[in-house]
Amino acid sequence: MKCRHCGSALRCNFLDLGFAPPSNAYLTAADLSKPEVYFPLRLKVCEECWLVQTEDYASAESLFSAEYAYFSSASRSWLAHAAHYVETITTRLGLGQQSMVIEVASNDGYLLKNFVAANIPCLGIEPTASTAEAAEALGIPVLREFFGEALGKTLADEGRSADLILGNNVYAHVPDINDFTRGLKAALKPGGTITLEFPHLMRLIEQNQFDTVYHEHFSYLSLFTVGRIFESAGLRVFDVEELPTHGGSLRVYGCHTDDPRQTTDAVGLLLSEEEYRGLRTAATYAQFQVKAEQVKNDALAFLLQARREGKTVAAYGAAAKGNTLLNFAGVKPDLLSFVCDAAAAKQDKFMPGSHIPILHPDVIFERRPDYVMILPWNIAAEVRQQLASLSEQGTKFVTAVPHLEIR
Ligand SMILES: [Zn+2]
Repeated sequence: MKCRHCGSALRCNFLDLGFAPPSNAYLTAADLSKPEVYFPLRLKVCEECWLVQTEDYASAESLFSAEYAYFSSASRSWLAHAAHYVETITTRLGLGQQSMVIEVASNDGYLLKNFVAANIPCLGIEPTASTAEAAEALGIPVLREFFGEALGKTLADEGRSADLILGNNVYAHVPDINDFTRGLKAALKPGGTITLEFPHLMRLIEQNQFDTVYHEHFSYLSLFTVGRIFESAGLRVFDVEELPTHGGSLRVYGCHTDDPRQTTDAVGLLLSEEEYRGLRTAATYAQFQVKAEQVKNDALAFLLQARREGKTVAAYGAAAKGNTLLNFAGVKPDLLSFVCDAAAAKQDKFMPGSHIPILHPDVIFERRPDYVMILPWNIAAEVRQQLASLSEQGTKFVTAVPHLEIR
């Protein structure tokens, strides 16, 4: 297999999670009597550009047939994050009624609604019909297409180039990252700005976040690699911020290569830190498998011990990362009886692979388990707050990543 960015041969393994079904392929009761399709889930790293990427496998297109769609507005903390971003970027770039903002993967309008409220023209790009409809209901124009070079050029030809193009948690999920980046270049006005947010590979490695790996998450990105990809498309990263979201993300600021804006010191500093932490050393990547197995084994040991002691364990948050952990560990409903999730679309379905039933959050208060494993550890504080009354009655909360914690 060749690197999806630079075409070099991929020789270095990063992580092997065995086989797993697509992380968003939630099952109905009827599905449980049918066969379930598993795909290999392995990551490799390119020793030339250091892009960490999923290994190719057959029939990748079937990943995207799932009916389930994630609605960004479901998370209150994420809404606040989006509103704060819009406020600061509007001031920083001096955006106004003459400006044009494009968001790639605009989801249900969770972010662009803030631009609509500020009278700043915007356009969402979102191929998922259900979320696009929700955005349109908020008065946001939406193009229901996948973004890439072809669409970028069409937008430019139609005079719809952007002063700001943003993409939150989409860059790591696109199968062809070069084509996507050329699309950003094509749709960006001279003097325009790109901002992209994505989980930072440095934090993934440091915090054992192997459970953020799933098939639809094609790339695991460092600032160094994003800088290289931008450069090859005629773009330049001129600033970067580290964010606490999703266990540690980057927000990179991009412009055309010849833009007069100077590259900030933050870029050089973070590049040095990545190098210091071994992100350009093959040995760093070779060691990760053992760390992931340690986290998995500790989580499994906890579940087995609880079972032996006759304690009840439930989970909260039927998130993709939960599916990665549970399937890697081979956990089934005998060890983890049910999971609660606030999203109505997931309720009364079953987790892919593990077949653990997904129930309404009320159930967790009725059954009061001895332990609640919080699968989306990135929102553990928010969840503990929501379930505070359980803790008063003796329930303990468990998180598996970065290492097993019971409190
Ligand atoms: Zn490469």
